[in-house]
Amino acid sequence: MKLSALGRIALATGITVLATATLPGTPAAAAPVKRKMLPVLVEFSDASFQFPDKVKASTPDTYFGAKSDSAASYLSELSRGQYKLVPAVPEQFLGPIKLDLSAAGCPHGKINQMTRDELAKRGLVAGEDYDSISIVFPAQKTNCPWAGLATLPGPTTWINLYGTASGIDVVGHELGHNLGFGHQGRVKCTGGNLGACKSGGASHTTIMAGGYRPAGFSAPEMIRAGWLNGGASQKVTKSGVYTLRSLHGKGSGVRALDIALGGDRLVIEYRHAAGNFDAKLEGVHAYRVPKGSYGASSLIDTTTADKTATNNAPPNADAITKLTDKASKLSVAVVSSGGGQAKVKVALNGDSLASIDAAPTKSPSPSPSATPTPSASPSANTATEAESDGSEPVTELGSRELTAADDDSSTTMPLVAGGGAALLAAGLGFLLLKRRRGKHA
Ligand SMILES: [Zn+2]
Repeated sequence: MKLSALGRIALATGITVLATATLPGTPAAAAPVKRKMLPVLVEFSDASFQFPDKVKASTPDTYFGAKSDSAASYLSELSRGQYKLVPAVPEQFLGPIKLDLSAAGCPHGKINQMTRDELAKRGLVAGEDYDSISIVFPAQKTNCPWAGLATLPGPTTWINLYGTASGIDVVGHELGHNLGFGHQGRVKCTGGNLGACKSGGASHTTIMAGGYRPAGFSAPEMIRAGWLNGGASQKVTKSGVYTLRSLHGKGSGVRALDIALGGDRLVIEYRHAAGNFDAKLEGVHAYRVPKGSYGASSLIDTTTADKTATNNAPPNADAITKLTDKASKLSVAVVSSGGGQAKVKVALNGDSLASIDAAPTKSPSPSPSATPTPSASPSANTATEAESDGSEPVTELGSRELTAADDDSSTTMPLVAGGGAALLAAGLGFLLLKRRRGKHA
């Protein structure tokens, strides 16, 4: 039986630990999910790290360092302390371990299996001693067409390392796949008519789709992870004016609206600089969530300009002002937006926007919305492992993900439902590395 520190103290002192009662409107103070991460450095029979000491020195920092863009800091800030990535072993990583395997042909399945066999030899048990592994290996001879690969969802990431350290743009992206997020698409719905949308590339509002580190995760992903529980995401079932605070950052308040859209969901967020996120992102954004799959959402883009992490478009280039969907008799209009707060008018059941009082008369009742499919702790069970090892990798490259205007791969990304796992590559990481290598060449 495993007891929390509080539980042990309680037992020792005879104090009864009461379950925290959730008062109406009080965000539930759930115990943080602790995820035991084991980075493992591996080498091949025919390829080793060029500077193993530098790789060994950088690895703890990349995953658990105090810097704000270590994987642990990143996920802790995004989850507002609800998700903790902790080292599975005191040394924080293992290796390099030499595998009796050639690097040729990017044998990711064998890399995973042989690494896990090595861990078993060392007495480390998946699901007990570690929840997730991140396998880091030298890229020079693998020919892997990606910088990172991950099970979706799941416990495994692969880092095809060119230099001496990986960065959050790759590691954070892969861990996002482990949390159940695909590559977020963008649909163009010019003029805000949701009945006439066409696929339009990547959202750029998340690290999962070209937003890089500063974008963090988008509202649908935050819901998928279970990080907007306790009233931070509000299910809208009545017409009215709703107030949103910034999606990221400390404090309380409603961070997302979650509205029925036929059989889909419409998620509304307000992005504004907060902590280490969204310095260049501003305004109210909307997403379509197909059939309740919050990990497979698409940004609804009503404008012609596109904001990306690297272009000069204004931060609010993809902010919505008005949406209409005749089929589900829904209208949305932004009443005000800026300075850290937005007010959004939602008209349901054919109500007219004009009939809704623009002054929010009362705070909408804060009924904490249940997260439909929270999988903050993707299980590391053997079934998932076996499936992920046997499945074909869904490898989409960054060039398509990021640049092709008519690319619909990011909106039709196959998400394997319910315990199954797929493999997704970090296309954007691939691009980054290509660029970085070009610079150094
Ligand atoms: Zn990816």
